[in-house]
Amino acid sequence: MALLNRFNYTSPPPLPSFTKSPSTSTLFTFSTLPRNRRLNRKFPSFKLTATLTADTTAGSVSNGGQPKLLLEVKDLTAVISESGQKILNGVNLSIYEGEIHAIMGKNGSGKSTFAKVLVGHKDYEVTGGSVVFKGENLLEMEPEDRSLAGLFLSFQSPVEIPGVSNSDFLQMAYNARRRKLGQPELDPLQFYGYIMPKLEMVNIKADFLNRNVNEGFSGGEKKRNEILQLAVLGAELAILDEIDSGLDVDALRDVSKAVNALMTPTNSVLMITHYRRLLEFIKPTYIHIMDEGRISKTGDISIASILEKEGYKAMSST
Ligand code: ADP
Ligand code: MG
Repeated sequence: MALLNRFNYTSPPPLPSFTKSPSTSTLFTFSTLPRNRRLNRKFPSFKLTATLTADTTAGSVSNGGQPKLLLEVKDLTAVISESGQKILNGVNLSIYEGEIHAIMGKNGSGKSTFAKVLVGHKDYEVTGGSVVFKGENLLEMEPEDRSLAGLFLSFQSPVEIPGVSNSDFLQMAYNARRRKLGQPELDPLQFYGYIMPKLEMVNIKADFLNRNVNEGFSGGEKKRNEILQLAVLGAELAILDEIDSGLDVDALRDVSKAVNALMTPTNSVLMITHYRRLLEFIKPTYIHIMDEGRISKTGDISIASILEKEGYKAMSST
């Protein structure tokens, strides 16, 4: 799941226990999962703790009109925690406010690993280098604090959460963030008013909100849902891992339009993709090629054209 690096849901009544920590997710656990969709209304005494992305604008101060350095990754190396296998071999990347960066690269080159390492996924251990996000050492922060600081990751394969409706999930998530920001929570009606324009933005029908999170969603619906989460919660750096995979051209256009609409002068996007098609809809400031766990080349959109014609071989020889 994209936004919730850790989402703990506990309740006094003895309900079936469920823990889900899929490999594609960061840390995503429900200690108790109610069966009822209307959980927060049916069980008002539930205690919910969720950690989320910060407000799109929170904490982002432009530096006398100069774009601010948002993310600085230096010589980042990381291994798979379980096996010790080295995946990231010295990644260097700087992202300024307002920029859109794309990472392309062969399957298995480490793109998703890099994204997950940035959000603090437990499957990976950082063995060297540094990551500074908004002037803070990101690597010292807990996954939930990274979220709160304004990092969002949309997963390549979003997880399903049986028994929890999209609207309850989003409302709880958004309210948890508002609590963290010291803002009053929105009641269901207020939340409805807040989310309706977001649904329109992603071109999602309102009945989508009553369905369980990602349960039975098509690939395209899952991706739209990820972007809806981003739209609801906001982020200063949104990392989008293959949001184009499984999308037909209409869905791709909708999703891209929504991502573009979410861009402000003070936030940034890092998107991972294989295809030039996405880059025609969301125009990147820079394109990077990931090769064997490091960024081997950086350039503009012309890189994507070369790639399309000649493949990744052309990249390693230039
Ligand atoms: P990409 O996203 O560029 O296709 P990944 O970052 O997903 O590549 O994977 C890079 C390599 O690391 C692959 O060989 C993949 O099998 C391996 N890998 C990544 N995560 C894990 C994991 N949790 N357990 C085992 N192998 C992994
Ligand atoms: Mg990947």
